[in-house]
Amino acid sequence: MASELQQEVARRRTFAIISHPDAGKTTLTEKLLLYGGAIHLAGSVKAKRARRHATSDWMELEKERGISVTSSVLQFVYRDHAVNLLDTPGHQDFSEDTYRTLAAADAAVMLIDAAKGVEPQTKKLFKVCRMRGIPIFTFVNKLDRYGRAPLELMDELEQVLGIRSYPMNWPIGMGPEFRGVYDRRANVVHVFSAEGNHGEKEVAERSVPLDSEEIHSILSEQEMAQLREDIELLDVGGDEFTREKSDAGLLTPMFFGSAMTNFGVRPFLDAFLELAPPPTARLTKDGLREPSCPKFAGFVFKIQANMDPAHRDRIAFMRVVSGRYVKGMSAHHSRLGKEVRLAKPSQFLAAERTAIEDAWPGDVIGLFDPGQYRIGDSLAEDAGVVFDTVPRFSPEYFAVVRSKDPLRRKQMEKGLEQLSEEGTVQIFQQLQMGMKDPIVGVVGALQFEVLQYRLEHEYGAKIALDRLPFSHARWVVGPNFDPKAFDWEGNRQTVQDRDGLPLVLFRDDWALQHAEQKHPELKFLNEAPQL
Ligand code: GDP
Repeated sequence: MASELQQEVARRRTFAIISHPDAGKTTLTEKLLLYGGAIHLAGSVKAKRARRHATSDWMELEKERGISVTSSVLQFVYRDHAVNLLDTPGHQDFSEDTYRTLAAADAAVMLIDAAKGVEPQTKKLFKVCRMRGIPIFTFVNKLDRYGRAPLELMDELEQVLGIRSYPMNWPIGMGPEFRGVYDRRANVVHVFSAEGNHGEKEVAERSVPLDSEEIHSILSEQEMAQLREDIELLDVGGDEFTREKSDAGLLTPMFFGSAMTNFGVRPFLDAFLELAPPPTARLTKDGLREPSCPKFAGFVFKIQANMDPAHRDRIAFMRVVSGRYVKGMSAHHSRLGKEVRLAKPSQFLAAERTAIEDAWPGDVIGLFDPGQYRIGDSLAEDAGVVFDTVPRFSPEYFAVVRSKDPLRRKQMEKGLEQLSEEGTVQIFQQLQMGMKDPIVGVVGALQFEVLQYRLEHEYGAKIALDRLPFSHARWVVGPNFDPKAFDWEGNRQTVQDRDGLPLVLFRDDWALQHAEQKHPELKFLNEAPQL
């Protein structure tokens, strides 16, 4: 008999949804929770969120900007599966956070607006999933409106993303005539009925075999003819579906539906849970750590400060990789080289934070962080486990930070330090005499606004940001590198990172290439060299 650990691993699915803003991620998330029984009427997630907006300053920014800036983790149970949905922010300027979240996922659902096709943000995120080699499932959304023809969308996936697709189901009609989807494996048509339902409840649905008499009383001759023609095209000209290709992210299983009306959500969820992999192993410096390893291990992929401004709390989000996490346990913190107690764990059940007793591979838990965690940290029952999973990104926008109120400078510095530990910004010190104001570097320009907002609202420090004309940061190693003599009039400036390592900010590609050619003895690194 399988052990409890094996059973828990087998029933888990951990994934993230990737999409361009407005494709319908919030709506789909809500509907997945609805089908998971975590909420009874879709829309309550939003209502809850709206209430929170009113009580939290931090959320205020989200409301003002109309964007989602925090990523949360939702767990729900559907049939026998424990599903962890990592909700990622969709705005392009927050993509760094999204990338990190993807490091914690075992599969991705690529959500596409049927009318818009593959959009820029989808493209970027798809690339990251590709790099990680995780399976990618495609959900084509908004079929209740007129959009592009399904075959055209398949072609676009191949042309723009370079991935072949296998439609697991096929839409019958579109817009107001969207009647249902044909399940290719089961050879049945799922017919939807919208009566009296505006997407708040699970949609009424009948499954009718395509070869039955009954189907003729449901679909018109024209609908039948069109469906048969499409299916033949797919069967003859399309790829064959294999789990191997899907698991490796080389072929994307494709689904059609409408998150708003719930059409197609259940057929998608059923097939997705069947085909998505259970929690996968993660690479450590000593090889793969399998989920079935009985010793607990996990890594921190996100840190969120001040989720509740009244309590000044900091939460470190940890993905469990192996073994069982039990409340109150201690683990070895590899970067600090000591045992730490994993305090106040919480899990995020349908948008509510709840205390948990235990967790299994694939789960994400929020640990109370007294300031001891950094993104990428490894925690394990056995010493010496170091995961190699969370990507780091080199900042592309830079500004000098000045405190508007000299008496609040200390608060500003504290805030900057905490936000840099959270991974929101990187801080650099200027090297020239008398230049005391720090430089911050960010991956997306909107993070400057977030920084300004949070310093003011969480630390009471008003700041001014003077933008600098640089777009690349490189750590420099090599003989005879003289940081003080390396500055060059607006083209490059040398600074120091938190650990005192020198790096150079370059104006543009040209300035960087120029330095690389002039100084072949030096290495210009994208990431900080290991100390
Ligand atoms: P997100 O930015 O990806 O989270 O997108 P939202 O879920 O907030 O949806 C963006 C807009 O598209 C909202 O106005 C939704 O009501 C709408 N929307 C989402 N799903 C559907 C759908 O299936 N059909 C239609 N017609 N609209 C949808």
